[in-house]
Amino acid sequence: MATTAGTEGQGGADSGEAPTYKGSCFCGKVKVDVKGPVATTYACHCTICQRTHGAPYIAFANFAAGSITPTPESKEFIACFNTSEKLVRYHCKVCASHVYNDIPVEGYECVDMPVANLERGPDGKVLAWDDVKPQCHALYTHRVEDVHDELPKYDGLPPGFENFNPGKFFHSYPTS
Ligand SMILES: [Zn+2]
Ligand SMILES: [Zn+2]
Repeated sequence: MATTAGTEGQGGADSGEAPTYKGSCFCGKVKVDVKGPVATTYACHCTICQRTHGAPYIAFANFAAGSITPTPESKEFIACFNTSEKLVRYHCKVCASHVYNDIPVEGYECVDMPVANLERGPDGKVLAWDDVKPQCHALYTHRVEDVHDELPKYDGLPPGFENFNPGKFFHSYPTS
């Protein structure tokens, strides 16, 4: 499916082909093309996400490694930093919006991005919402507010990450 502008190219549930998505930072200097399908989705309550985003939790969509590609024009505006040994967060130099993360943990190589940074329609809603809405809450034990929804809430990482190496992921995990 072509990554056309507008609503076409979002979802693609009926085409039989992998869906594709578009995302961007707040100011639009950083744009990314995202190749589906979505692997998993979760709302992350870890203290790193809380503090780097300034939010109680962040809804992420997770994809296979290499699925998020910045457009060529975007590259000069992208900066990154490691918040863990194996988690690199990419953000816009201009508006500081966090656009995507690279998680090269052996056996779990993947990328993810805040659902909020995916393309929206004229009504402000994320076009691919049905594909990317959170399926659970992760690291819920670190929450700064209770969430009263019907989704599963995990103290740790979501299903599929049970053997994720916490030493790699959280070696710099802040406690204060
Ligand atoms: Zn920006
Ligand atoms: Zn997090």
